[in-house]
Order: sequence, then C-alpha cells, then structure tokens
Amino acid sequence: SIAIVGSINVDITTRSDRLPQPGETLHGHSYAINLGGKGCNQAVAASKLGGDAKLVGRIGKDGFGDIAAQHLADMGVSTEHVHLDETHGTGIAVIGVDANSENSIIVIGGANLAVDESDLERSSDVLETAKIMLMQLEIPVETCLSAAKKVRASSGKVIFDPAPAPVHGLPEGFLQNVDVVTPNETETEILTGFRPTNAEEAAHAANLLREQGVAAAVVKLGARGVYFKDETSEGFVEPFKVNAIDTVAAGDCFNGGLAYALADGKSLAEAVRFAAACGALSTTKHGAATSAPTLAEVEALMGA
Ligand code: ADP
Repeated sequence: SIAIVGSINVDITTRSDRLPQPGETLHGHSYAINLGGKGCNQAVAASKLGGDAKLVGRIGKDGFGDIAAQHLADMGVSTEHVHLDETHGTGIAVIGVDANSENSIIVIGGANLAVDESDLERSSDVLETAKIMLMQLEIPVETCLSAAKKVRASSGKVIFDPAPAPVHGLPEGFLQNVDVVTPNETETEILTGFRPTNAEEAAHAANLLREQGVAAAVVKLGARGVYFKDETSEGFVEPFKVNAIDTVAAGDCFNGGLAYALADGKSLAEAVRFAAACGALSTTKHGAATSAPTLAEVEALMGA
C-alpha cells in the first residue's frame, strides 16, 4: 500500500473581480468549498489512479472536519487513519481569486500542526506495511522524520516533497532518511542554494541534493520538464504537451503518480515519466485534488 502522512485542509475559494485592499470589504461573485492540503491532494491522486492509498493525518471535531471526511470518502480515500483532534480545529485555506486568476491565500494549519508521534503510533500498521510513504511539509518536520525512519525500518521507501519550501532549513541529516526527494525550482534553491532553470542545471542541483544523503533526486521544472538521478540512472523527461489552464496541485498529482508507479514496481525512470504525465494532465482541469487524472487518462497520454 501507499501511506500518505500529511495535511488535510478545507479550501474556501472566493471569486471576485479583484482582491480586497487592507480595510476594504468587497462583494464577490461566488465561492466553492473543496478538499485541499498537500497530504490530501497526494492521497487522492494516488487513489484515483487505483493505488491503495492510506492517509494518516488529523482533522478537528468541527463542521470543516465533517466536510473533509465526506469529501475524502467521496474520493475513495479511507479515513480510518485520520484522527479526530479534540482541541485543534480542522486546517483551512481561505483563497481569494480575482478575474485575472491572481490569488491570495491564508492557511490556518490547525490540527495539521498537531500531527505527532501519537498519530504514527496509532497508524503503525500502515507505516510498517507501506511499500511507499509520501510526506510533505504541512505537518511538523519532526513528525515527518520519525515517520520516515519507521517506514524505512520496515523496508518501505520514502518520497519527500519539500513543500512548502523549508525556508528555515531541514533538521541536520534529514535527507539521509529519504529515498526520493521531489523539489520544484524554488524548493531546490532553498535546499541547495542553487536555482535550476534547465536540464543541465537540474543535474547539478540533483548532485547537490544527493550529497545531502538522499538516494534519488527528482528536480521538477514545472512546464520545462523534470530531471531525475539515483545511483544507477539519470535522465530528463520532456514536458508532455497539454493545454494547461490551472497548475494548482500539479506537483501533488505528480507525487501521487510517482508513488503509485514506484509501488507498482516501476523503475525510477519509468515512474518519473508516469508522474510527469499525471502532473501535466492535472493542469488541464481546474481544482486541486479534483484535477487528478485516472490511470486510463495517463496511459492514453503516455501512449500518444
Ligand atoms: P509544483 O506544483 O510542485 O511547483 P510543478 O509546477 O513543477 O510542481 O509541476 C509538477 C509537474 O507537473 C511538472 O514537473 C511537470 O511534470 C508537470 N507540469 C506542470 N505544469 C505543466 C505544463 N504546463 N505542461 C506540462 N507538464 C506540466
């Protein structure tokens, strides 16, 4: 199975002609309530492909928690290992979008910031039996480190998406506990001090990441493609040509796809190509988790 230890948010997205100035009240056109949070998005992406995704995280005992649990169930993700937090509220993101698709976002981490060792212990069977574990940085980094150690102790592989970018750095030796790291340009710069813009520079950045102890570096360059390197393979995957209309959660769909393909026994090279197809397809639809592709859609794009 694929374990995802990460964040669960409810996204409240408003649409208005423009974003408000400080002190200003505006009337908008509409709003939507959707599932969000990188943990959730990646779990949904892996699950939609047909992966046996098990999400470990927390929601609050509030209306938003009910909404998150319902959405997860609708998307076919088990909430068996989503803990109900008695004291913290469900994580939310309040997202304003204007007529030019420019946005401003406030995230209240809530229960996500309380995910700790007790959650890992409660879900020890999930971590011990996971072939692959996905983690990101919307829960405490110490919890990620501990989860990584547990999964690897049971011979599972750890994929780490260093997002949001760890502007205060990672704990010493963190990447030594990770099998695959998947930063975008900004996250690569934060981790290595070097911002790659093309395949050659991404290769250099991948070497810098591998010097920090991670086995495989997968450097995502958005619409410019993705570079990967591990002990035995390296290469550059050209971007799939799609009509991109919304890049929200492209990285999450990429990671969900990467986990699915690696759990399916694919090589890193094959899995990265599969993941790039997932990321590309997600940009052809609006939304976060809802824009994740099905296996049939990915296979159609890869075969074309
Ligand atoms: P993040 O969301 O983490 O910043 P990226 O923007 O790099 O991640 O997108 C993740 C992946 O999705 C990319 O590496 C690429 O494979 C795919 N992707 C994103 N945008 C496009 C695009 N416009 N065309 C094709 N593929 C894309």
